[in-house]
Amino acid sequence: MKILKIDHLGIAVNSIDEGKTFWSDILGLDFAGSETVTEQKVTTGFFPVGASEVELLESAAPDGPIAKYLEKKGPGIQHVAFRVENIEDALAELKDKGVKLIDQKPRIGAGGAKIAFLHPKATGGVLVELCERS
Ligand code: ZN
Repeated sequence: MKILKIDHLGIAVNSIDEGKTFWSDILGLDFAGSETVTEQKVTTGFFPVGASEVELLESAAPDGPIAKYLEKKGPGIQHVAFRVENIEDALAELKDKGVKLIDQKPRIGAGGAKIAFLHPKATGGVLVELCERS
């Protein structure tokens, strides 16, 4: 498996608009737009930082994973995403190594990326996302 870089940090927020106050107005990061991934019930807002991004995650439905996360833990870092060269190879390798996966196969995330989550129980409590962009 080849990890290329940290692709983005996923940060759960109550509202992307509110989040902009800190990330954009105060820190001066550019807001590169938002996208709703209906299937995952989330709206993402992107703030590029060098070769990586801060990705704000706002729930797009009351029963979505981000709504549940906010209920339990409140706003904050929800996941770390690593960009890999080939996500199918990476998942196969992790399966071989006995790593518990949330997604056995990649699904399509924001920006058309192929993404898959590893189970936090297998990573020391961190929700890790793998992503491959073409
Ligand atoms: Zn992500």
